[in-house]
Amino acid sequence: MRLRSASVGIDFYQFFLNTKILFQPGISRDFSNELAQLTARKFLLVTDPFFAENGVADAVRAGIEGAGAEVVGVFSEVPPNSEVEVVKRCAAAATAGGAEGIVALGGGSAMDTAKAANIVFSLGGDLVADYSGSQTIPRALNPLIAIPTTAGTGSEVTSSAVIFDEATQRKLSFNDAFLRPQLALLDPELTLSLPPKATAMTGMDALTHAIEAYTSAQANPMSDALAMKAVKLIRTHLLQAVERGEELEARSQMMIASNMAGIAFDHAMVGVVHAMSHATGGIAHVPHGLANSIYLPYGMEYNLEVAAERYAGLARRLGVDTSGMSPADAARAAVTAVREMRAALKRVCGLPDRLRDAGVAEGQLEEIAATAVEDGASFFNPREVTFDEVLKKIREAY
Ligand code: NAD
Repeated sequence: MRLRSASVGIDFYQFFLNTKILFQPGISRDFSNELAQLTARKFLLVTDPFFAENGVADAVRAGIEGAGAEVVGVFSEVPPNSEVEVVKRCAAAATAGGAEGIVALGGGSAMDTAKAANIVFSLGGDLVADYSGSQTIPRALNPLIAIPTTAGTGSEVTSSAVIFDEATQRKLSFNDAFLRPQLALLDPELTLSLPPKATAMTGMDALTHAIEAYTSAQANPMSDALAMKAVKLIRTHLLQAVERGEELEARSQMMIASNMAGIAFDHAMVGVVHAMSHATGGIAHVPHGLANSIYLPYGMEYNLEVAAERYAGLARRLGVDTSGMSPADAARAAVTAVREMRAALKRVCGLPDRLRDAGVAEGQLEEIAATAVEDGASFFNPREVTFDEVLKKIREAY
């Protein structure tokens, strides 16, 4: 079955968000009011080596302990693009420490590790065999508090976790409403340390979430509103956050945008850009945000015919003066605006804009295309994702 294109109109949607969101600079150091409302009193803190070493995890820990709760351990082994074995060790650490909940501090990798570990920690069983895929979780998990340190993935509000499976060399998805964290703490101060290139690629990840949510076959009025606002915020603040990373205002706006884009795509889903990126991440180990940044204009071109009005609607949010333009021209101008953003990011921080500069070998392109066609994101793309057509775009992106 092919879902109807979002541009045709809509006769049903649902919107449900069971995550409480708090934005405040410094909130990661003191959220005692929130902790007081949870029944869990013992937490495992899950983070990556960077935050374990730079004192931020200690500050979060002190805040939790200052509120009278206990940190039973700090699991800081999370690598970028986390793996099944790491998730299993993390779940074991939560069980061994007698935790009643998890606090995740870090980018998408730390948050996704914590989300996936929370499944096994709460329910037992085998992560891959019992829970990979969609709607596999039978009941609520232990409380999870997510504290993002990148403005990119939106994982603090999404119902999914993406984990690399060493056995199959593929990225596995876990999708279930029970995976959404109970609490998302948006502290833009945490992103001040993110280097320019990482800021650029994670920001482009958020832009891709927003644009693909807006053109998804499952877009709805709520996701549209969040996606459009996110596109505008990212267009206005990403370059500034990359060039002047010490400016809290730009960091704040990017964190809000990333969060909005996360809610948008969690409800609307994503499309061909993500399908290509997931495949490229699994096969060639390109970071998710970088893959999205490289593929975004090509994916937009892929959908140009069926989603022109939608792209035209985004053009103004991307800074295009659309007065006097036909929808088709405005849609093409939206793609050009995305290309210009990438060119500016390449200029200021060296963000690659071709697969060949991101470690992908030409011999991998067909496998990437074949894997992308099978990816779940392809199902929600407004135009059918076929091997030949997607391979063409992947070759262009190479
Ligand atoms: P990441 O978590 O992999 O972090 C990348 C690197 O940046 C790490 O070395 C980390 O230590 C460092 N870092 C993070 N924050 C920092 C900071 N503030 N200062 C300095 N260094 C910092 O990066 P990411 O892009 O946030 O996450 C990528 C992962 O998220 C991928 O596995 C991707 O598949 C997944 N993802 C998940 C969802 C979801 O909804 N669950 C959505 C998109 C992406």
